[in-house]
Amino acid sequence: MHVTILGSGTNLHPTRAAAGYLVRTDHHLLFDLGPRTLTNLLKTGVNRHGISHVLFSHFHADHFSDFITFFFDALIVTKFQGGTRGPLTIIGPHGTADLFRVLFATLPGFTDPPFKVRFKEVADRPFRIGATKIWPRTVTHSPGLHAVGYRVEYNGTALAYSGDSEYCPNLVQLCRDADMAILDCSYPANRPGPAHLHAGQCGQVAQEAGIGQ
Ligand SMILES: [Zn+2]
Repeated sequence: MHVTILGSGTNLHPTRAAAGYLVRTDHHLLFDLGPRTLTNLLKTGVNRHGISHVLFSHFHADHFSDFITFFFDALIVTKFQGGTRGPLTIIGPHGTADLFRVLFATLPGFTDPPFKVRFKEVADRPFRIGATKIWPRTVTHSPGLHAVGYRVEYNGTALAYSGDSEYCPNLVQLCRDADMAILDCSYPANRPGPAHLHAGQCGQVAQEAGIGQ
C-alpha cells in the first residue's frame, strides 16, 4: 500500500491544500478531494483517469470541492478530447446519492457522462474493492451530518483515515492496530474546540488503538 498526502490543511490557505489522500493498492483510490488537492494529484504523475473510486468522509466543502473540477475535467477529456476512462464509483456517507444527483442535474454539462458513474452509500459494514478491504465507520463530527472514517486493508497492511472527527469510541475502533493512521488534528491540545480532535486527543487515539505511525 502506498499513501500520498495530497493535502492536510484546511479550507482556505495561501499554500497548503485541504484534505485529500491518494491510496494505491490494487486500485487507485482517492479519499476526499478538498480544495487545491487536485493540483497536487497532477504533480504525482498518476493518471487521474485511472482512478476508479473516490471515497468521501463527509461533504463539508473543504473535503469535497475539488471533485467538481476533477469530474468536469473527466467529462471534457472523454466527451471532446477523445479520451477514455473506466467506471467511476463515488462512495460516501448517507446522502451521497442525493447530493450527486442534484449536483449532476444542476451543473451545466454534467449530465450523460460517457463513462459509468456509480454511487455507494456506506455506514459501518466492510466491503471490498478488488483485493482491498474497506471498512467505513461512523464518526462524531457535526450534528445532523453523517460522517465516516475509513480503514483500508491490503496485503497485510492497515491504514485508518478519520475524516473529520471528535474523539469517539468508533474512531478508536477504526484505528485498532493500524500500521498508519491519518487523523484530523484541528487544534493544539491547550486550545481545544468542537467537532475535531486536538493534538492531545490524536495521541490518545494512537495510544488506545495501538497505531503504528
Ligand atoms: Zn468537516
